[in-house]
Amino acid sequence: MKIYGPVPSWRLGNSLGVDLIEVPEGYDKVCSFNCVYCQLGHKVLKTNSPKKITITEEDFKRLRIKIRKTNPDYITFSGEDEPTLNLNLGYAAKRIREMTKVPIAVLTNASFINLPEVRDGLNACDLVIAKIDAPHQNLFKKINQPYEGISLADIVQNLKLIKTKLAIQTLLFSYNNLTNSDKNSITSLISIYREINNTKPITIYLGTAYRPTDFIGVRALGEVQLKAIAKKISTQLGIEVDHYQEKELEIISRKFNDKELRKEILELLRRRPCTYKDISSRFSNADISGVLESLIGKNLLEVRIHNNEKFYFKIESK
Ligand code: SF4
Repeated sequence: MKIYGPVPSWRLGNSLGVDLIEVPEGYDKVCSFNCVYCQLGHKVLKTNSPKKITITEEDFKRLRIKIRKTNPDYITFSGEDEPTLNLNLGYAAKRIREMTKVPIAVLTNASFINLPEVRDGLNACDLVIAKIDAPHQNLFKKINQPYEGISLADIVQNLKLIKTKLAIQTLLFSYNNLTNSDKNSITSLISIYREINNTKPITIYLGTAYRPTDFIGVRALGEVQLKAIAKKISTQLGIEVDHYQEKELEIISRKFNDKELRKEILELLRRRPCTYKDISSRFSNADISGVLESLIGKNLLEVRIHNNEKFYFKIESK
């Protein structure tokens, strides 16, 4: 088990990440998808075989200490993999529940939700955030590039069986001629949301590709367009739709020395590229320009421009 953050999340506030799977050397992630917009990189160990991967007492001890030190808003199963690939997800959630009242969320692509054991694991969390980006199987294959045989229709059917709080997360974007944010796609996505919501009440999170990926040309929607789509969905379905917008993130007030700061920044950027503001806000809005410059000088970080914003990336090979 790897523990990281807390990282800033527009849905969950200060989210302490728990990663249940070790990514082998040479890969960016372990997943049943390889989404075009994925910010982790595209060297995927693609699998459709969930299995039990051991979580040790030492892991839980480290997590307990981290929760106490960081006081997160959420503990979130996420990271560089699809969490339901570890069938010990439910066991981990139950053990965490015994140690804290902090709510537990899980980010999932729901590709194994047909398995009762996986649903039990998801139901052991307080909030399941399940990904649906595509309005039909054809676009599902192009956007999410799932493992052969995974069906969007099956995912939609099985999401209705979730017993805990359920949010459907859709990431809207365009990439060359590929998009899920045109009028027809939104109309079809609304039909899917309605179908699930008729059986299992949901909330909807609308995100966009605001963080860079290694596929140059992936474009985020502007805030005005995202807001208009959120309003359309909410009006038609009468359900809550939360959409990405830049929010002031809660500040971690603990003081860090330079060594700790470097370590924390590298850990944060290993999981996701961030803007200066994202990083600085984690550390009492400290002036971190010197630390960033020194990490760039050591070839541990690099800067890339995405949607006219400067993002800091960790250089993985170092
Ligand atoms: S499901 Fe998540 S981790 Fe897997 S490829 Fe898509 S965005 Fe990346």
